[in-house]
Amino acid sequence: MKRRVFLMTMAPAAALLGSASLAQPANVDEKEPQAVALGYVDDAAKAAAAKQPKYAAGQMCGSCALYSGKAGDAAGPCALFGGRQVAAKGWCTAWAKKA
Ligand code: SF4
Repeated sequence: MKRRVFLMTMAPAAALLGSASLAQPANVDEKEPQAVALGYVDDAAKAAAAKQPKYAAGQMCGSCALYSGKAGDAAGPCALFGGRQVAAKGWCTAWAKKA
């Protein structure tokens, strides 16, 4: 019985640890001062909805020159935020087209 309880407890914990080591969630918060100053949103659709004057359809962190995340990742480092993780589908007013 104890072994069964142990396994039932550890399996989800191991799954969580495994996914945590693979996933890289965005850690730049929209509400922090630098993000607010740059109009950063974790979903470019919010920029579209807010009618951000600098936003154009199709722009997102994943297609920005300052983003160095891998294709398909949910988040990746942004040079403008000192290499901290931004959402691949995010956006800010400093968006620049990849060369
Ligand atoms: S500079 Fe580019 S990658 Fe960084 S938050 Fe702005 S749009 Fe996203």
